[in-house]
Parts: sequence; structure tokens; C-alpha cells
Amino acid sequence: MKYVTLNTGTKMPMLGYGVFKIDDNQAGDAVKTAIAAGYRSIDTAAIYGNEKAVGQAIKESDVPREEIFLTTKLWNENMRIGNYEDAFEESLNNLDVDYVDLYLIHWPVKDKYVDSWLAMEKIFKSGRAKAIGVSNFMPHHIDDVIKAGTIVPALNQYEMHPYLARKEVLTHCKKLGITPQSWGPLGGSNPENKDLLLDNPVLKKIADKYAKSTAQVILRWNIDIGVVCIPKSVTPSRIKANFDVFDFELTPDEVATIDGLNKDTRFGANPDNFDF
Ligand code: NDP
Repeated sequence: MKYVTLNTGTKMPMLGYGVFKIDDNQAGDAVKTAIAAGYRSIDTAAIYGNEKAVGQAIKESDVPREEIFLTTKLWNENMRIGNYEDAFEESLNNLDVDYVDLYLIHWPVKDKYVDSWLAMEKIFKSGRAKAIGVSNFMPHHIDDVIKAGTIVPALNQYEMHPYLARKEVLTHCKKLGITPQSWGPLGGSNPENKDLLLDNPVLKKIADKYAKSTAQVILRWNIDIGVVCIPKSVTPSRIKANFDVFDFELTPDEVATIDGLNKDTRFGANPDNFDF
């Protein structure tokens, strides 16, 4: 495993396990499979509806809580009604933990994300979130919360994959000491998008060289460019394969080739224009 050190001084695994679109019935087994495969970082969110199963699976695993880096997120509706404290407590209760390692603002809800950030700072200062960060923030959203608050976000989680490099976000995060993290690294949960990306011939050629899959090459590319990734799968063989990316390294030319695949194709919502 490779680690990144957050601006709080805490170490975070560069590769974690995402649980978006895994329902409560499946999430327990999926998280247990991931932990057994070696993952020590789990990314969930209040809106995913699976915090209870995630927390239970961590409890039932052989790995102590303090060895798992646990992330959850504040949902948009709670931002709109200013329900910060209760929303956070509900996540802690669902997860059955007394702290999370990272708490994120899920989306930059217009006219609400700055106030939400100030509430996140209070939660951080209470010690119940060891780090706080943001998700789906563009550089201008990041600048707004830094200007209004006293804490620089530890991490920004945003859509990023070879077809959507988001260089401006990456550069901004790195300049400010904010750890970049990709969501949808394999093209997200829509099968059409995923096949489009994972069947790319340039990625296939690189994958063949290392006897790896295109998914593994993409995850390794994330790690090699300093981006934390959290691939999701419910398929045990893929959960394991996605973790098996630490026995090879891309050359600088291969990294540049993958960088060159960018076509600014967004598979998810636009953070400056979303309706949820
Ligand atoms: P991913 O890019 O991780 O792709 C997941 C999809 O790829 C699933 O359909 C999965 O299928 C499939 N897959 C996984 N591994 C492989 C493989 N080795 N070969 C082929 N197919 C594979 O998408 P996500 O959108 O889930 O993003 C990852 C995580 O990021 C989420 O789980 C969540 O934690 C976070 N996220 C955050 C968002 C935000 O707004 N902050 C938004 C979206 C995601 P299967 O499960 O059937 O194996």
C-alpha cells in the first residue's frame, strides 16, 4: 500500500474501497471481502443508505477500527436546511463509531457550501471527524471556503478518470496542499461509460505489457500521479483485482500517454449546475 499524508498529519491509503450503489443488504459482505483483500480505507456517504452495513462489517472484521480509514459525507438536503450537527450524529450512529477519519461536504450546494464548511470546522474541532474535506469542488468553491473559514480542506473528492483529467482542479488542490481523490475512476456505475473507458485500446496496450487489466492500469495511473482512488465493485474477483496494483509502476511516458486520453468527458453531474 502507498499512503498520502493529509494536511492534518494523518496518513491515508492511496487506494480505498467505494460503496456507492451497494445496497444495505450487499454492503456488509462487500466490505468484509474488501477488508479481507487488504483495503483499509472505506468511502461511504449518508445518501448511499449503507452506513449501517458498512459500520457493522468493520466491527465484524478482524481489523481494529483504528486501522480503517473511514470516510462519510454530509448530504445536500441537510446543507439546504442547515441540519449539520444532527446529520453528522446520525452518520456516526449509523456507522456505530465515535469518530470518522474524514467527513466531506458531498456537493457544493449553491449559497450553502460556505456555511456548511463553517459547520464542518466545528465538527472537526470537536474531534469527532479527524479530518474534514470537500467533494465535487471546483477551484472557485475551494477558494470560497478557504476565504471564509480557518481550515484548509484536507481533501477534495471529484470525478476524475482518463477521459476527464480535470488538470485545473488537480493543480489547484496540489498548490494548496489539498489531497486530490478521484471518484468514478473506472468510468462510474453506468455500464456504457465503463465499457467505453475500460475497452480503450491505448489502455489495453499498456495493460498487456504488465499482464494487468485496463482497470488496474487506471488505478495505478491515479496512484502514480498522486491521486487517491476508491474504486467500487460488488464482484469479489474485481474487489481483489482492483487492489492488486502495487507490483508494477507506469513509466513517465505511459503516464503522459494516459494523461493524453483526456477529452473532458464528464460521466457525472457538473458541480456548477446540478439539480439534486
Ligand atoms: P467506479 O469508477 O469505481 O466504477 C464502478 C463500476 O465499475 C461498477 O459498475 C463495477 O461493477 C465496475 N468495476 C469495478 N471494478 C471493475 C473491474 N476491475 N473491471 C471491470 N469493471 C469493474 O465508479 P463509482 O461511481 O462507484 O466511483 C467509485 C466510488 O467513488 C464510489 O463507490 C463512491 O464511494 C465514490 N463516489 C463519489 C461521488 C461523489 O459525488 N463524491 C460520486 C460517485 C462515486 P461491479 O460492482 O458490478 O463489479
